Amino acid sequence: MSRIGSKDTHPELAVRRLITEMGLRYRLHRRDLPGKPDIVFGPRRLVLFVHGCFWHQHRGCRLASMPSANAAFWQAKFDANTARDRRNTAALKREGWRVAVIWECETRQPERLARRLQRLLPVVSVSA
Ligand SMILES: [Zn+2]
Repeated sequence: MSRIGSKDTHPELAVRRLITEMGLRYRLHRRDLPGKPDIVFGPRRLVLFVHGCFWHQHRGCRLASMPSANAAFWQAKFDANTARDRRNTAALKREGWRVAVIWECETRQPERLARRLQRLLPVVSVSA
């Protein structure tokens, strides 16, 4: 297994930088919301989770490969993570939030990521 990625290319920072460039305001890690979403757009009722592909087991993603050692341990950990993700998403939706997940692998393709964010967060007013 390889733990790809390093602190200085933190996926969440990449997303936040793009959002800031889009001129949007957001709040981080709101503790009053289920799952403490990474990025929250209150007026738009939209939350973003930036998920590491490995820890959150991005399906079909090459970054989400199962470690060969201690497979049972990892499987239990992954199952707990994904179950918690599902619970949090369901709770947020019940409270009227839209929930979007940005995967770590998406943050490595800045142009695709920017298009995805623009779809999620259409900018209403044209800024100079
Ligand atoms: Zn991925």
